[in-house]
Amino acid sequence: MIDINAIRAETPGCRHLLHFNSAGAALMPLPVYDTVRRHLEIERDFGGYEAEFRAKEQLESFYTEFAALLKVSPDEIAFVENATRGWDMAFYGLPLERGDRIITHASEYASNFLAFLHLAKRRGVEIDVAPSDSFGQIDVVAMEKLVTSRTRVIAITHVPTQGGLVNPAAAVGKIARKHGLVYILDACQSVGQIELNVPAIGCHILTGTGRKYLRGPRGTGFLYVKRELAAQLDPPFIDLHAAKWTGVRDFELMPGAKRFENWESNVAGRVGLAAAVRYARTIGLKAIEERVTTLADRLRGALGEIRSINLHDQGQRKCGITTFSKDGRDSHAIAAALRQQSIDVSVSSVEYALLDLGARNTGPVVRASVHYYNTEAEVERFARALARL
Ligand SMILES: *Cc1c(COP(=O)(O)O)cnc(C)c1O
Repeated sequence: MIDINAIRAETPGCRHLLHFNSAGAALMPLPVYDTVRRHLEIERDFGGYEAEFRAKEQLESFYTEFAALLKVSPDEIAFVENATRGWDMAFYGLPLERGDRIITHASEYASNFLAFLHLAKRRGVEIDVAPSDSFGQIDVVAMEKLVTSRTRVIAITHVPTQGGLVNPAAAVGKIARKHGLVYILDACQSVGQIELNVPAIGCHILTGTGRKYLRGPRGTGFLYVKRELAAQLDPPFIDLHAAKWTGVRDFELMPGAKRFENWESNVAGRVGLAAAVRYARTIGLKAIEERVTTLADRLRGALGEIRSINLHDQGQRKCGITTFSKDGRDSHAIAAALRQQSIDVSVSSVEYALLDLGARNTGPVVRASVHYYNTEAEVERFARALARL
């Protein structure tokens, strides 16, 4: 059981805000904030190098915390400044050639799809978009039929940014394993709200960001690359941290996920994100997942009773993200009106989800994303505010 009062007492933002925007950026809890602040104070008083030296153990815990969270090894984790750049470092490191094929799905994150298009233009790779099943999630049977002798990669998004569905990541992993394909999972919206077990999912690359459901600082992210694959990837950029200058004309890439990191980074952010993972693990990912799912189901139920509201979430299994529109009201105007009442949501734009919202003709949708620190009372208040708009 989550002690919701204690959690909210540690979340100052809850006092003045109805925050349904964890899919955008969640509210940071005090232990995370204090970790960042303390580190900045040491930087202020002793300089950045000394502060980093003193934070040695906290910095090492970044790797062990993520390893425990994902059930992988610390050397398979890299710190990156955001999820997109982490994803890029691995994806652009794959040896893809003209005619090689990538399988993805309509729920793929826009930046990832842009990278596919980029490589299609640069190197002539081909993109296959797996169909959706009747729930709107990846049709795993149809996906497998797309596999050809030229298919190299399956790259999907676990939970799309623009909807509440949870894609069947482990079933996709079985296809990847059966056909010897590299499997990239964008877990940006699932990490921190859903318990992730990388060996059970079977992905080789997984990325996430700090600021969303993990409740970490902005400008932080992580990249997981399976050890055997990391050894084969050629990162698009290297520096003196990612590689070793072994002779005047020679270098070696660092083993493991280190080769995807930069030497310089936001150290306060790194210790802050490590603290955020520790915080989530202390509460327990299973408990978090249950509470988030329950609250979001309740939210969909309450919104479903308002006649003018159209719910847009798909998926057999749904998570903390709820998307909707309201007859005759622009979604941006709804978000602005809610902001006036200290209610925070996002709007998912069609231009960032052409294959999904674009194909479904939804127009922009309001995205209300709950976290475990939200309450049933907030769900009721939110529904009342929408009914009144
Ligand atoms: C937010 C998001 C990203 C990008 O994360 P950044 O840290 O902003 O790069 C990628 N994928 C999904 C599904 C997201 O929701």
